Amino acid sequence: MTVAFPAARTAIVTGAVSPRGIGRATARRLAAAGWDIGIIDLDDDASAEAASELAASFGVRAAGVGADVSDEAAVRAAVDGLESALPQIVALVNIAGISSPTPYLELEPGEWDRVIAVNLTGVHHVSRRVAESLAASGVGRIVSISSVSAQRGGGTYSKTPYSVAKAGVIGLTRALARELGPLGVTANAIAPGPIDTDIMGGTLTEERKAEMAADLLVGRIGTVDDVAVAVEFLLREDTGFITGHTLDVNGGLYMN
Ligand code: NAD
Repeated sequence: MTVAFPAARTAIVTGAVSPRGIGRATARRLAAAGWDIGIIDLDDDASAEAASELAASFGVRAAGVGADVSDEAAVRAAVDGLESALPQIVALVNIAGISSPTPYLELEPGEWDRVIAVNLTGVHHVSRRVAESLAASGVGRIVSISSVSAQRGGGTYSKTPYSVAKAGVIGLTRALARELGPLGVTANAIAPGPIDTDIMGGTLTEERKAEMAADLLVGRIGTVDDVAVAVEFLLREDTGFITGHTLDVNGGLYMN
């Protein structure tokens, strides 16, 4: 049985503070589409500020709390807080992530652990807590950001542990789709190619963008809105037949 979306519904978006990032653009796009927004990012004040901005710009309800997604107790407390402050949680968008450009033979053990902890275990922590609420209400959407790096073994900026974590996100997504489907919850991943944000060692110069675009079929690297629109699509009530999917948003860099 399909449970309808409630009229007032909240999407939790992790990693939505970075001003030029995918998370901020996605939160704005979802707010414009009528979603109330709960933000989880590293800093409490910055998360609250990003939420206030959304509420002021789009007239939605929004709240933001600080938590490191790799810290399970902090994540549970953050989601508990957002759940009590906002309308029913219907969606989770896992966007928080870090880059890792270190070549394999120069990797320190700490870097491997840190990247897996944030980019994969962090997605699990937030998904696990939010899935409890979605399953209880019998309706929900989970979208997690993977990367073309998972499919091509790197090849953009970040290397080994990043590729491994992002490949893990695809496996996690498929396993969640299988287990949560009967409970009314879909789970999908998005695998972006290079997107113009600050995660690849700072703001990209025009030269770097042109170099990256050379491998792409559409003649340009991606924008944050290219990813945000894909998230919005997968969160819609009428896309509930899509689950376990990885949506490539990569300008043709890799064809699955
Ligand atoms: P960004 O650095 O602009 O944004 C990352 C956000 O995550 C920031 O707001 C940061 O504060 C937050 N964050 C980092 N670590 C966190 C933690 N431990 N707990 C909570 N929040 C944390 O980067 P972006 O380019 O917008 O990347 C967003 C996501 O998209 C990441 O998962 C990234 O791996 C993925 N991605 C980016 C690209 C790209 O080319 N930009 C390509 C493929 C995938």
